[in-house]
Amino acid sequence: MVFKDKCYTTGITGITNEGLGVGSVNGFVVFVEGALPGEEVLVQISQVKKSYAKGKVVEILKDSPERIKPFCSVYERCGGCSLQHLDYDAQLRAKTGFVKDNLTRIGKLPDVTVNSTIGMENPFNYRNNVQLPVRKDTSNSSIGFFAIKSHEIIEGSECGIQHKIGNSIRNIVSNFLVNNGISAYDEQTGKGNVRHLVVRSAFCTGETMVVIVINERKLPEKEKLINALTSEFPEIKGIMLNINTKRTNAVLGSEYISIYGKNTITDYIGDFKFQISPVSFFQINPVQTEVLYKKALEYACLSGNEIVFDLYCGIGTISLFLSQKAKMVYGVEVVPDAVKDAQKNAKINGVSNVEFRIGKAEVVIPKMYHQGIRADVVVVDPPRKGCDERLLQTITEMAPKRMVYVSCNPATLARDLKYLSEHGMTVEEVQPVDMFPWTGHVECVILMQRSGLEDEK
Ligand code: SAH
Repeated sequence: MVFKDKCYTTGITGITNEGLGVGSVNGFVVFVEGALPGEEVLVQISQVKKSYAKGKVVEILKDSPERIKPFCSVYERCGGCSLQHLDYDAQLRAKTGFVKDNLTRIGKLPDVTVNSTIGMENPFNYRNNVQLPVRKDTSNSSIGFFAIKSHEIIEGSECGIQHKIGNSIRNIVSNFLVNNGISAYDEQTGKGNVRHLVVRSAFCTGETMVVIVINERKLPEKEKLINALTSEFPEIKGIMLNINTKRTNAVLGSEYISIYGKNTITDYIGDFKFQISPVSFFQINPVQTEVLYKKALEYACLSGNEIVFDLYCGIGTISLFLSQKAKMVYGVEVVPDAVKDAQKNAKINGVSNVEFRIGKAEVVIPKMYHQGIRADVVVVDPPRKGCDERLLQTITEMAPKRMVYVSCNPATLARDLKYLSEHGMTVEEVQPVDMFPWTGHVECVILMQRSGLEDEK
């Protein structure tokens, strides 16, 4: 047993994807904030549950050689990154470990080959999209990130993972609000004007879009802001107001008013061109996205004669990649606007062997299957909750030659791979890719083959 508020000594044997060290006190698992594997720490218990407890490091008695000083001055308050106290190479090893652990515990697949996580050469300033809340504080307005588990704003620090231009634009907007006495949104009263600053940057072209989310229909002195932003940053190609008058935590409302330049910015992934509007989904880390997609294409191992399904296709980025080597690609996506973007993207890239369908993959694919449309290769890239079992059931009935699973959540991935491997697919290889350095997130690309395929040859 352990008791709340008491201090105990423990050795740390593992780390969770939330960055918590895993220790053990009197046979009880304790998750320790701020502790790393290989360390011995004095932990004060903050929470005791039925099967585990949580606590915080009071003193490191023996520290890990992999411990580093976090580069961000507000690391402990922010909560945006959870692994900044761990050396980057050790982070990559930890991420490979998260994947293996999930595949073993949940997937019952302890023997699958999991390659080392592919990291970034330069794991800084990798984000192309930042949303910063603007809130009224005691003096006037603050722009920054929300502190962990709160709506208190952490102001003024340079964020080391977002594109540098985002930090500079924040400073310009902040000065503009202060100098012109423009009010910031107050969550308590629902009053005040400016709610969020959104900055999206295209890494390949440098084009940048700024969106100011407001609670009233007008932004006073907007010409001054436009001048301040565009005179310093000619790469700003569009500035928009987004109207959000609802008292919700949702960042964006549905109405946009363009106040400068274009409504879209252009970016590339590989050779493909994408037009990104403020509402378009676009992968956050474009450098690693290319790594991920190339791996998916390699695993799909296309010869040019295959019918391919790209399920959960978003704006069709993977579909376009696959189209280079497939006979025909069918993309399926539930958000109608994303499908419109996908169709537009196919057109501007001159790709004609792709077709997109709107709907839930678990509804659309069984229908297509019954209409006789079958895939030789199926690619899935579901959101964190993974695939619906109805979809997995149809895929295994269809028995494609190969399946490529792109996952952003090792736990649901492991659950789905368990189902697939119990229903005729063999997991060949797992490749983790680090899309979000300094955080606990890890993406994976998985190659599966129809079981017994080797014997059929
Ligand atoms: N493959 C894309 C997007 C992946 S994100 C890319 O790489 O950019 C996951 C996508 O799945 C989102 O676009 C989301 O809208 C979509 N989605 C969520 N649930 C779905 C479902 N049941 N059926 C089809 N698409 C779904």
